[in-house]
Amino acid sequence: MTEVAKIPLAGVVGHPVAHSRSPRLHAHWLRAMGLRGHYIPMDVASADLAEVIRTLPKAGFVGVNITIPHKEKVLDLADLVTDRATLIGAANTLIFRKDGRIHADNTDGYGFIENLRRNAPGWDASGGPVVLLGAGGAARAVVASLLDAGAPEIILTNRTRARAETIRQDFGTRIRVEDWVQAGNVIEEAATVVNTTSLGMEGQPELRVPLDGLRRDAVVTDLVYTPLQTRLLKVAAEMGCVTVDGLGMLIHQAIPGFERWFGERPEVTEATREAILK
Ligand code: NAP
Repeated sequence: MTEVAKIPLAGVVGHPVAHSRSPRLHAHWLRAMGLRGHYIPMDVASADLAEVIRTLPKAGFVGVNITIPHKEKVLDLADLVTDRATLIGAANTLIFRKDGRIHADNTDGYGFIENLRRNAPGWDASGGPVVLLGAGGAARAVVASLLDAGAPEIILTNRTRARAETIRQDFGTRIRVEDWVQAGNVIEEAATVVNTTSLGMEGQPELRVPLDGLRRDAVVTDLVYTPLQTRLLKVAAEMGCVTVDGLGMLIHQAIPGFERWFGERPEVTEATREAILK
């Protein structure tokens, strides 16, 4: 009797998880590419995380994305952790290997860089200083990827200065920490400006950093993608800067996982964005 191939299952594990756009994205790619597979949102409390992760491979899962608040804790559950996930201190993608081992990676930085390369033609991390607002979990992935891509200097500013100092200690001398109140001044130095804070997101306070010092040739990007057009991006575009919204990062960080789980590399088109937004 011939064995019927199992349908690969993947998903996103978080708490809460209902807000995640990843199920729409992966469902779109599976459908558009005619692939067998399902991608399921799973709301898992911290106390249950280890048990759930260890059980999923037995239920036909080939891997999962990991989102807040489990990105750090999941490193302890993995048998293999990529160098970049170790450096960042968090993982967003797990691959359940056939040999039973769990492989953890962090693709947020890859998604961040790909988004800029594709949507700000000619952008190069090595083109000048980067001003980075925020020093949370996402900032660590963005810093790692910018340094890897050749950024000469990252000027880091965060409300809680100690968090920025920790990033400097972990990532080295190309990082300069400035006080949060100085953000509007240091922005004048930036060839690239990145908002990694949650400010400007729906339901959060607005990002109030003064923007009148922005260079007209700066590339400005925001990790926040609800709304797509944040105040930062709106003001920067009005000043003549090239702006890149955060949706592309979400899309591109998903590609390595999708390819490993379902066997084919997905394309990013306007239909991909529409599938998430609808
Ligand atoms: P996080 O670890 O909670 O960090 C939040 C950051 O925002 C910290 O730097 C925090 O500063 C700052 N912040 C929060 N409220 C503030 C306020 N009232 N004033 C000044 N600063 C404030 O969150 P995260 O995981 O890094 O995520 C940050 C944002 O990036 C979220 O909006 C998330 O949705 C977005 N994101 C997008 C993508 C994408 O694919 N586009 C990927 C990852 C994350 P303190 O350190 O002082 O608290």
